[in-house]
Amino acid sequence: MSLGSPLIRYWYNPSPDMVGDTVEAFLQEMAGATLIHIPGRDRSRKRAICTLLHGNEPSGTRGVFRFIKEGIEPAVDLLCFFGSVRTALHEPMFFYRHLPEHRDLNRCFRPPFEGDQGRLAKAILDILEEMAPEALLEDIHNTSGMGPSFAVCMKQDAEHEALTSLFTQRMLVTGLRLGALFEYSERNVPTVTIECGGAQDPHADNIAFEGILRYATEEDVLTPQPADWGLEVLREPVRLELREDAAITYSEAEDVYADITLPPDVEHHNFGRISTDVQLGWVKPESWDKLIINTPDGVDVKDRILRLEGNRLYPAQALKMFMITSNATIAKSDCLFYAVTDDGSHLE
Ligand SMILES: [Zn+2]
Repeated sequence: MSLGSPLIRYWYNPSPDMVGDTVEAFLQEMAGATLIHIPGRDRSRKRAICTLLHGNEPSGTRGVFRFIKEGIEPAVDLLCFFGSVRTALHEPMFFYRHLPEHRDLNRCFRPPFEGDQGRLAKAILDILEEMAPEALLEDIHNTSGMGPSFAVCMKQDAEHEALTSLFTQRMLVTGLRLGALFEYSERNVPTVTIECGGAQDPHADNIAFEGILRYATEEDVLTPQPADWGLEVLREPVRLELREDAAITYSEAEDVYADITLPPDVEHHNFGRISTDVQLGWVKPESWDKLIINTPDGVDVKDRILRLEGNRLYPAQALKMFMITSNATIAKSDCLFYAVTDDGSHLE
């Protein structure tokens, strides 16, 4: 079979003894971006998983490795993409989200597909188009700290709910377009992103493996089951982004040299209800403009999310926040957190 890409190694049906004894050996065997194709009982259908888009998020790779090691036959053909293999292999292993000289691979799945990461993203999209899987898991991500699992998707319908329920009971629906692979669902292939928890959390590895097992072995993964009814759905979150010149610090007390200071344990707010009297951190009043919260349509809703009293930062209304990061680099290059209103009202 021709895959039309020298950028991705194609590895058909590796046996359990061919993938090494450890995840590290498995990655060394791959050496670079790889597609592992595992034939299923029904050869007429395929499902895809694209994992390791971020080199410091091992749970998806560990899950597929365990699946292969256990010699399990999937229900349909399984296509497993591993994106940032070289990044993960870079010492210390599973340390870099992306190498300093590279862009974030999961922001490259849209034109102009420039640079090494852009070309790899384009190659993955081309193969998906050619192989036409019936569903896609855009990665099984890990969060930087500890956090509960959830799924992210662009559409809320029965198929996306069914895919989500293979892994978790929490689903975010967002129309945000950032060049992430989960935007593949716009091609009418049900696509979900899974966030399975912290990179160092063994519980996250179990969520990843159990979900992959269900995704790979169930006859039908696109019809909701009665157990799916408990799904919590959070719609249209907004992101707090920081202006390029913003200085952020994590500290128990306000850092007078920083524009924004957050406590080191700020991740504890993940998915909890945060009332308006909970202080989130500190912002210098003259730095307020360096905080940006817009809807996907570009409407500024910052004053509906956050409120400054002197230099103390509070929610402007009761919120649910998630993917709060305590990593200053991610906060600046991506976003500091996502939020929805606690009553589910629209931010427009
Ligand atoms: Zn990730």
